[in-house]
Order: sequence, then C-alpha cells, then structure tokens
Amino acid sequence: MNTHHPLIIEPIPAFKDNYIWALRRDTQLAIVDPGDAAPVFAYMQQRELTLTAILTTHHHADHVGGVAQLLAQHSVPVFGPKNEPIQVLTHAVSEGDELEIPQLDVRFRVIDVPGHTRAHIAYYGAGALFCGDTLFACGCGRLFEGTPAQMRTSLTKLRDLPDDTLVYCAHEYTLSNISFARMIDPNNAALIERERRDTGLRAANRPTLPSTLGEEKRTNPFLRWETPEIIQAAQQHLGAPAGSPDQVFAAIRDWKNRA
Ligand code: ZN
Ligand code: FE
Repeated sequence: MNTHHPLIIEPIPAFKDNYIWALRRDTQLAIVDPGDAAPVFAYMQQRELTLTAILTTHHHADHVGGVAQLLAQHSVPVFGPKNEPIQVLTHAVSEGDELEIPQLDVRFRVIDVPGHTRAHIAYYGAGALFCGDTLFACGCGRLFEGTPAQMRTSLTKLRDLPDDTLVYCAHEYTLSNISFARMIDPNNAALIERERRDTGLRAANRPTLPSTLGEEKRTNPFLRWETPEIIQAAQQHLGAPAGSPDQVFAAIRDWKNRA
C-alpha cells in the first residue's frame, strides 16, 4: 500500500461548470462523476496515472456520460446508485454499503440522498464528502425527481457529518448561489466573508471547492431552515406563515428556482 504518498483530491473541469473529482495516491486514480471521458484521459496521460475505480452519484449525463468510453480502455469497477437507470454500473450500492478502493487505501460509506434524482447517493470517507448535485456550496440541487421533504431529509443526513468534512460538489455554482443567499440572508457575517473570498478565487480562475460542512452550516440557506432569518425569508416568499421545516425549505427552494 502506497500510504507514504498522500491522498490528493483535485478537480478535473468538464463542460461549462462541472467538476469531475480525481482522487489519486502515487500513480493510482479514482474518479467521481465522469460526465466526459476526454478530460479524464488527458489528466491521466499528463500524469501517467492508472485508473482503478469510477464512482457515480446519479444518472444525469453530465455525471455518467463518460463512463462507457473510460471502460472501453480500462476495465475497472463502476459504483453507483441502485434504482437509477445507469447501464454501466458493475456495483450498484445504497445506504449503509461500504466500498473500498484498495489501490488508494480509502473506504467510503454510501449515503442515500434522494431529491435531485430519486436514488441519488453520496460517498463519505477520508474526511471527504462527494455529494454530486445534492449539496452545493451555498446551495442545493434542483428537485427533478423528489420532494422538498425528501431533499431536506437527505440534506439533514449530510449536515450531521463532522464540521471539518470537506465538501466536493459536482458543479461550480458557488457565486450565483451566494448572491441568492445574500438576498435572503443579508446580515450573515460569515456569508459576507464567504462572498468576498470566493469572488477572489473565481477572479483568479480557481475553484471555490472543496468547502467545509461547518462553513455550509453557517452560510448555506438550504441547511438553515431552523434559523429565524431563513424562516422569515420563507414567509416573505409565501406571503404566509411557514409552519414546518419542510415548508421553509420548500419555499426557499421555490424562490431560488424563480430568482
Ligand atoms: Zn444532476
Ligand atoms: Fe449535474
């Protein structure tokens, strides 16, 4: 085991704003959500890496579209959600399953996070969370196949992970998410600081990810349905009292869709 080499996690940009996450130790590589094969091939060739595993979070093409082409060159296990239409999986997994990538000496626990799609999963291990299109930096995914209550339950599971968890989402949506968050939560000092820092990162063409779960809990309105400011914003959008956390969450998700 190459444990004297550190585990490196870095983004491979794809399409307009996707990140395919690369996990490598020494010459061994695993990737998360390869929507496109070409940038992964280029990344591997430049660094002389060997592909050992592919992880997918949900069935959307910008997350799985490159898998078949990668598999044609490299016969590796492909993990992904049970109960989603993904033809290329070798290992269909769901909540409670653990997967090991021995070449990288890492293990991940699978968490079911339905909402964006009906069986979306997240992977948690090595202090890192790969959450696809469920939790975004300062935002969350759209509800294409699930209800607000399902999504809020999913986000609650992620929110319960340790504050120092590094959050690796699949899109660079941070600045537009922050501007919505600033509109509904204008006096949040941590959010103001986050906007300043992340605006600087993007101006330098650097990723805003990973974030930490602790920072998401302080700044992401889609994890803050219990805070008075977010409840008040939800009520403003509804023009009526929001009686439950699900109503608060649904209201701000709806507001963001229209913003
Ligand atoms: Zn998606
Ligand atoms: Fe996506």
